[in-house]
Amino acid sequence: MAALSGTTFHIIGGGISGLACAWILKNKHPEIRSVIYEASDCLGGRAYSYFDKTFAKTLDNSLHVIVGANKFMSQFVKKEEWCRYCRFFDIETGKVDGKIYPNRDLVLKSICNTPSSDVATPIKRNIMRSLFPFSSSRRKVWFSRGNLSQRIINILSGYADEIYINHKLRKISSQFGFAAQLDFGARQVDISSHDKVIIALDNLNCSKILPIIPLEHNQIINIIYQTSQTIFLPQGSSFIGVRGGSFDWLFSYDDLLSAVISNYSPSGENLSQLAMKIWGEIDKIRGVNSAFMPPFKAICVKNATIKQDEATNSRRPDNALSKYPNVFIAGDWSMKDYPCCMETSVLSAKRAIDTALKINL
Ligand SMILES: Cc1cc2nc3c(=O)[nH]c(=O)nc-3n(C[C@H](O)[C@H](O)[C@H](O)COP(=O)(O)OP(=O)(O)OC[C@H]3O[C@@H](n4cnc5c(N)ncnc54)[C@H](O)[C@@H]3O)c2cc1C
Repeated sequence: MAALSGTTFHIIGGGISGLACAWILKNKHPEIRSVIYEASDCLGGRAYSYFDKTFAKTLDNSLHVIVGANKFMSQFVKKEEWCRYCRFFDIETGKVDGKIYPNRDLVLKSICNTPSSDVATPIKRNIMRSLFPFSSSRRKVWFSRGNLSQRIINILSGYADEIYINHKLRKISSQFGFAAQLDFGARQVDISSHDKVIIALDNLNCSKILPIIPLEHNQIINIIYQTSQTIFLPQGSSFIGVRGGSFDWLFSYDDLLSAVISNYSPSGENLSQLAMKIWGEIDKIRGVNSAFMPPFKAICVKNATIKQDEATNSRRPDNALSKYPNVFIAGDWSMKDYPCCMETSVLSAKRAIDTALKINL
């Protein structure tokens, strides 16, 4: 392999995939310079925290779950922060159980943001084999409690040599078939012959830069209620899966209750009506009859992840290569046969870096 000092990896996108590229590079080849360019004014992409003025506290754009089987992401969780057991509440019967198998449809739908019956078979296989097997030994679960940025994003960003926010890549100019210049509008960056570029964007933004197929996406909605105190869920759980209700998961932390619906498709009701319906179901779970609904906030992420059915999965790339020999692709959507989650983002970063390092130009 050619000497790597003097090489720069230009990483486009400051989400988990882009940040993980810098993390992997620093650990493997500290002599390589990594530079991240992020379009927005903050890092984290679909996984970040922000200060919410209405609730006067820091919230995550959506609570993120990491399970014990997530080899890379679990490194960010401290032992004492793991919740050991996952419990499920059946709205009709009022029964609580802790068995994953009877609740597999709910779990699969949440991991893949796609109705469980539609999830592509190779994705299911990878979930069962390694990513979310929920075997009892690895059934440790952690959910971010408004601290995604602090616990993960800020740590990962420390591995990059340089970071430029408000740098939206508009186009790549080429020479002799190689990417030669990155155009950020107000600024152009030349790519030297030793350098490599990693495009670590979401699928829709990537399709504006490289000739790849824009894929269909599904939404996720998070309804957050601000209660006056911490609410305890059945059997002392801090989060619970919900069967037969209008939402999938309920998380309790500080004075917040957060209800999540994966693969959300609005059914004509407005957000207040939805929040009211969910609050009625939360009452059932808590076994109370509350007099009023507390203030709430709805965070709807329209293009939360790509759809993970057979047809969409078959259109995902087979490798990290692009039309330019010095440009490589990362991003949760880019790993065919894997569910779109933070662990997959790191796997995609690892594949992009390994491929880029193998190719001598
Ligand atoms: C509501 C919700 C809940 C989720 N829950 C979980 C969960 O519980 N557990 C889990 O593991 N995963 C979860 N995920 C999935 C997880 O957030 C994603 O898989 C992961 O964050 C994807 O990271 P990424 O870097 O691949 O893409 P992104 O986070 O989309 O990062 C891409 C980055 O590129 C930037 N960008 C875009 N265009 C340009 C451009 N032209 N130039 C420069 N920069 C650009 C974007 O601003 C963004 O920062 C959830 C996702 C959502 C939306």
